[in-house]
Amino acid sequence: MSVQGIPRMYPGPVFGRADTLSYAGWEAAQTLSVEDGLEWVERAGLQGRGGAGFPTAKKLRLAAEAPATRKYIVINGAEDEPGSGKDHALLEQCPGLVVEGALIASLLVGAQEVIFYLSELYPSSSARVREAAAAGDIPCAAWSATHDSTSQSTELRIAGAPSTYISGEDTAALALLSGGRALPTERPPYPVTEGLMRRPTAVLNVETAATLAVIFREGPAWYCDLGTSSSPGTLLCTLGDELERPGVYEVEFGRSIREMLFSCGGQLRSGQAIRAVLPGGPSSGFLTADELDAPLDHASVRGLGSALGCAVFGVIGEDECVLERLLDICEFFAQEQCGQCPPCRMETNMLAKLVGQIRGGAPSILIDKLSEVVEFANGQGGICSLIGMPRLPVSSAVQKFRPDLEHHALHGACAPSHAR
Ligand code: SF4
Repeated sequence: MSVQGIPRMYPGPVFGRADTLSYAGWEAAQTLSVEDGLEWVERAGLQGRGGAGFPTAKKLRLAAEAPATRKYIVINGAEDEPGSGKDHALLEQCPGLVVEGALIASLLVGAQEVIFYLSELYPSSSARVREAAAAGDIPCAAWSATHDSTSQSTELRIAGAPSTYISGEDTAALALLSGGRALPTERPPYPVTEGLMRRPTAVLNVETAATLAVIFREGPAWYCDLGTSSSPGTLLCTLGDELERPGVYEVEFGRSIREMLFSCGGQLRSGQAIRAVLPGGPSSGFLTADELDAPLDHASVRGLGSALGCAVFGVIGEDECVLERLLDICEFFAQEQCGQCPPCRMETNMLAKLVGQIRGGAPSILIDKLSEVVEFANGQGGICSLIGMPRLPVSSAVQKFRPDLEHHALHGACAPSHAR
C-alpha cells in the first residue's frame, strides 16, 4: 500500500525502533550545551541525505557561529529527484521524527523559525507535519515571505515547493521562500551565513532531520555501531517498479549493493538478469553487474565512478539498451536546467541532441564528443551543481557501455539483445 503514489517504507534499525511522537530526542538535546550537542552530531558522522553528503555537524556549526539575532532552519522536502520517494515516505510514516530533528537543529543553531518546504504534489505531508507539531504543542502555521516574527520561542512554518527539479536546489528554495523566483543563486554568500531573508540558514533534508532525532534519542555511540566507520548509520534506498518489491528500504551502510537489491527488491519483474544499475538517480554513473558486490557506502560507490546521491536505484535488465536510458537522462537535464548559465544551457541541450543523433545513426566520432562537451562545461562552472550532473552518467556510459552507443551509431537501432 502507498499513500497518493508515495512508496511504502520498510524501516530498519533507525526508523523502525522510533516512537515517532515522543520528542525524547528533543528533550535530551535540551539537557546538553550547544557545544556538546554539536559534538554529538560530529561524533555520529552524519552526512546530509539530500544528495551532496555534506557533513551535518559542519553545516550546523557554521550557522550557529554566524553572528545574527534571527536565524532559520529550512527542512527541504521538495524531493524532485525522479523516482525518489524516501522523504515523502518518511513524512507520512515518521513525521514526528522529522519535526523533532528540525527542533533539535534549531536548538543547535539558535534559530527561532523552522520552515518545512514541502512538495506541493503531496499535500498530505503538510497535514502530517501539523499533526506531529500539535502532538508536541508546537505552534505551526503557513509561511509567508512578508511575515517577520519576533517570537523568541521556536515556531514552525509550512511552505509549498513547486514541482520543478530546480526548485529543490537549496538556494532556489531560499530565493522562493524569500519572496523571489525559485532559481539558484551564486555562492558565496552561503546560506549558513546569508540565506533566507539574508539571515543565517541551515537547510536540511527530511531524512537528515529525522536521523538527527534518532541520534539524540539513542546517542551517537549507538548510531555509530551501525554501518561502517566512514559511513555510519543507515540510508533510505528507493527501489523502483522494475523490481518485484518496490519501496523505500532502510539499509545499513556497508552491505553489498547486490545483496541489498535482491534481498529488498527481489528480481527484476522482466525475469532478466541485471545488466547495469544507477545507484543515485540521473546524476549518478552506471555500475556494471560485476561492480555490484561493492559495499553500499559513499566512498566505495565514488571509487566506481558513480555516486549514491539520494539513493534512488535504477536497475537495468539484460534486455535494455543503456543508450536509451542515457537519452532519458540527458533530455531530463536539458528540460530542467533553468537557463541562467550559458555553459549549462549549451551542455545539457547539446548532450540531448548528440545522444538523440547517435540513437538514430551517426558518425561514431559523436560518441567522443559527449565526453568533450561534459569536460568543457565542467571547466566553465555554473551557479549551481546541475551543470556537473550529466558528467557521471555520460562518462560511465561511454566507458562501460560503449558497444551500445557504437551499435546505435552504426545501425540506428539497439543491438538485438538489448532491444526491449
Ligand atoms: Fe540554472 Fe544550470 Fe546555471 Fe544551475 S548551472 S543555475 S541549472 S543554468
